[in-house]
Amino acid sequence: MTPEERILQLREQIAYHSDKYYNQDSPQIPDDEFDLLMRELKKLEKEHPDLVTEDSPTQKVGGAAKRTAGVLVRHNVPMLSLQDVFSREEVCEFVEQMREQFTEPEFVVEYKIDGLSMALRYENGELVLAETRGDGVNFGEDVTANARMISDVKQKLKSAPEYLEIRGEVYMKNAAFERVNEKQELLGKRLFANPRNCAAGTLRQLDTAVTKERGLSMFIFNIQAVRGMEFETHTQGYEYLREQGVAVIDGYRVCRTADEVWEAITAIGESRGSLGYDIDGAVVKINRLADREILGATSKVPRWAIAYKYPPEEKETRLVDIELSVGRTGRITPTAVFEPVRLCGTSVSRATLHNQDFINELDIGIGDTIVVYKSGEIIPKVRKVLREQRPASWQRYEIPDVCPVCGARTEREKDTADIRCTSSSCPAQLERHLINFVGRDAMEIGRAHV
Ligand SMILES: [Zn+2]
Repeated sequence: MTPEERILQLREQIAYHSDKYYNQDSPQIPDDEFDLLMRELKKLEKEHPDLVTEDSPTQKVGGAAKRTAGVLVRHNVPMLSLQDVFSREEVCEFVEQMREQFTEPEFVVEYKIDGLSMALRYENGELVLAETRGDGVNFGEDVTANARMISDVKQKLKSAPEYLEIRGEVYMKNAAFERVNEKQELLGKRLFANPRNCAAGTLRQLDTAVTKERGLSMFIFNIQAVRGMEFETHTQGYEYLREQGVAVIDGYRVCRTADEVWEAITAIGESRGSLGYDIDGAVVKINRLADREILGATSKVPRWAIAYKYPPEEKETRLVDIELSVGRTGRITPTAVFEPVRLCGTSVSRATLHNQDFINELDIGIGDTIVVYKSGEIIPKVRKVLREQRPASWQRYEIPDVCPVCGARTEREKDTADIRCTSSSCPAQLERHLINFVGRDAMEIGRAHV
């Protein structure tokens, strides 16, 4: 391989892994391996300055040897996750256990914001450090520079104790998220899948100007540690923070019985979708800090709180069309096109219908009112059809027996649900052949040596 070829290869790999890391929040290689790629590219570009291009990752602002803003920092207090529960029974069980163990315990029910966790350390009222969750127990990443760009993060507290550590959720309001994606689109850059991924990528990147521009928000949901001040309850802590102008989590409610707790959870569930940001659950916490002390934590989760997860968000909409596309093997795939609805922070208007069997199973036709949801909070899907709202002229959709691209006869394959175009000269298939060939070739270059 010539140096030029290797440089191209490295750039492609770096772009691929940067995208996984920043835009999809799903890194595939550890940071040190990423650093190695970057270092090799820098070295080669130094040896061959004529091969340096403006769009090389080495030339970008912040495109230094590290993709993370974060130097590792040791947690003072572990940033544990919460025990998830999915039913009313489990919520009641938790509440009853607490009522058996403690005299008249209080519960606080509050939003579980769909973002990423960050802790802030204040010394004598000055913000000295912001850290991410990292492994939750030992280390997080230092993201102080980016945190200072978030307007909800107070740089100074007026009447502060000697030491205060607070934890909260960094998130993005839907409006801010839409602005970012509109801009990404204008620049021809990849769109973020949802506000959470965008917030996570933004907090990790190196250019604080970008962080400022994107407009992250933060809610505080816990006092992790305090010296020089005392609180008896979680809500007292909230009141103190509010007086300091800190944005604590909205709409929390103090409850005493399992019924009250469930009512609060239901109310939060109903407000979902009208908050201007995404929540993915409700947290139930013991209010008295002395009770928390007694309960302690397992190695993963505190015993004094649970997170109730709502079933995936669903929306009703109307199916306006079914579009067909022809794959490179001639396979015809139907896609539902519906009136746009907002799901998990993004507007969606399309979902795959897979094949004729799936269409038959749903019993779906144009004009139907359908229920859509996002699988894994990313991929839009059709759950069901509301048959009672069917228009009089309704017909179940049938994939036509001619190819939508070339007009040749289509055929259902034996033993599968696939319907294919039978023409070997179908332009859709030829075009896909070409795209596939180029795509696969690029992939192979991208994968070598990874
Ligand atoms: Zn065809």
